Amino acid sequence: MQKKSTKYLIAGAGLSGLTFADFLDSDDWLIIEKERLPGGYSATDCQEGFCFDWTGHWLHLKKGINDWIRDYTKLHLQKVERKAKIWFRGNYMPYPFQTNLASLDRSLRLECLREFLQRPRLEGNSFADVLLSNFGRGIYKHFLLPYNSKLWGVSPEKMDGEYAMKYVPRPDESAVIEGASKGLGKALGYNNCFYYPRRGTMGDFCHQVASRLDESNLYLDWPLTKVDLDSKTAQSRGGQQINYEKLVFTFSLADFMSLCHSLPPRIKQYSNQLTGRKIYFLDLGIKDNLYARHFHWCYIPEPQYKVYRLGQYSEVEPSLAPAGCRSLYLELSSPFSNTREALEAVEPLLKEMNLINDSKDIVFSRLRSISDGYAVPDNNYYQARKEIFSFLKKVDIIPLGRFACWRYSSMGEDMHRARELAFSLNNS
Ligand SMILES: Cc1cc2nc3c(=O)[nH]c(=O)nc-3n(C[C@H](O)[C@H](O)[C@H](O)COP(=O)(O)OP(=O)(O)OC[C@H]3O[C@@H](n4cnc5c(N)ncnc54)[C@H](O)[C@@H]3O)c2cc1C
Repeated sequence: MQKKSTKYLIAGAGLSGLTFADFLDSDDWLIIEKERLPGGYSATDCQEGFCFDWTGHWLHLKKGINDWIRDYTKLHLQKVERKAKIWFRGNYMPYPFQTNLASLDRSLRLECLREFLQRPRLEGNSFADVLLSNFGRGIYKHFLLPYNSKLWGVSPEKMDGEYAMKYVPRPDESAVIEGASKGLGKALGYNNCFYYPRRGTMGDFCHQVASRLDESNLYLDWPLTKVDLDSKTAQSRGGQQINYEKLVFTFSLADFMSLCHSLPPRIKQYSNQLTGRKIYFLDLGIKDNLYARHFHWCYIPEPQYKVYRLGQYSEVEPSLAPAGCRSLYLELSSPFSNTREALEAVEPLLKEMNLINDSKDIVFSRLRSISDGYAVPDNNYYQARKEIFSFLKKVDIIPLGRFACWRYSSMGEDMHRARELAFSLNNS
C-alpha cells in the first residue's frame, strides 16, 4: 500500500462506499475492502451457469429522489412489474394478503373481513399493535404474525411498529373490502416495480460503479482489522497502519464496534445491545418443468415450512440460469449447519409448490448466510443507536449504508444517501 494517510478512509467497497467515493470532490480518499471483489451484498456470484445475488436484490428507484441511478452506469436497466404470490394452505394466492381476501375460502375470508372492519384502535406502538390496529386480528393471525415472526426471528410484540411498518403495504379500507369480493388486481407497496440489468447482473452494476473510480485508491482484500480512536489510526492486512481525518465505514455496526479499541464502557455496553438477524438462505439451480410458476417471489407465512420467501432470479432475467433451468433463492426461518440439512427441510415444499417433481430436478444447491441482515428494532434499538452515533460523530467516524446505520434500507436509498453525504462534505 502506497498511501499511509488519507482525508477519507472508506471501509467497504459495497454500493455505499463506492458511490460515496465517486461523488467526493477531493481525490484524497482510500477504500479498503475485505473481499477480493467490490459490491458487498449487492454483488452476484455465478456458479455452473447459474447466477445468484445475496437473495433478491432488485433496484427500487423513486422518481425525483434516486432515479439518477438509472443513468449512472452504462448498463441498461430494465423496468420490471412485480409478480408476487403467497403460498397459503396449499395454493398460490396474489400478494398482498390484505387486498386479496377473495382468494381465501369462505369462512376464512369472512373472519378476516369481519375482524378488519372491527379492528381495534390500540394505543401501543409495538409492531404487533400497529399491525392489529391497521388490519385486525384475522389478517394478523393468518399472515402478518406468522410471516413476520419467521422473517425477523422475533415476535412483532417485541418490535417497534414505526420502523417495521415501512415495508408493509397499507391499503385504504375500500381496497381491503373490494379485495375481499373480487381481489384487487393492482400491485401495492414500495416494491411494485423494480429495475434489474438487462442480460446482466447486479454484480455487473457494482463493477460499473467501481470502474468510475481511480483503482489505485481501491484496495481489495485489505480488511479493516482495528481502529485506534485516539490517534485516528486504522489497521489493515499485516498490521498496515493508515491515518485518517474521517473514517467512513459501511459494514455491520456491531462488527465495526468490535474493532474499535478503548471504547468508553458505556458505549461498549450499548454496542452489546445491538440485535442483528442472521439470515440463512439457499441458492438453488433447478431444471425447468412443465408446471413452472411465473412469479418473481413468493411469501410463505405458515410456520410448518422453514422458508419465509422464495424467489426466482431467472424469472426476472432469464440469462441468470442456463437454458432449460431456473435459479432460485429460498430465505430460511431457522439456522442450518449445512446444505444437505437445509435441502432435506425444503424439498417437500418445493414439490408441493410444483417447482420440482423430485430431488433429481435440483442440479445446484448451496447454503449461505448474511450475519446482520436485519437490524432488529427491539426495546434497546433507538437508545443504543443514538448513543453510539453521537459518540462516533465526536471521533470523526461516519456510518454509511444499511448495515453501518443499523436500519432497513435499499440499494437505491443507500446510494442516494452516499451521494448526499459526499455533497455535504464537499461543501463543509
Ligand atoms: C436479505 C436482504 C435482501 C435485500 N434485498 C434488497 C433488494 O431487493 N433491493 C434493494 O435495493 N436492497 C436490498 N437489500 C439491501 C442491500 O443489500 C443494501 O442496501 C446494500 O447492500 C448496501 O450496500 P452497502 O455498501 O451499504 O453495504 P454492503 O453491500 O454490505 O458493503 C459493505 C462492504 O464492506 C465490506 N467489509 C465488511 N467487513 C469489512 C472490514 N472489516 N474491512 C473492510 N471491508 C469490510 C464487505 O465485504 C462489503 O463489501 C437487501 C438486504 C438484505 C440483507
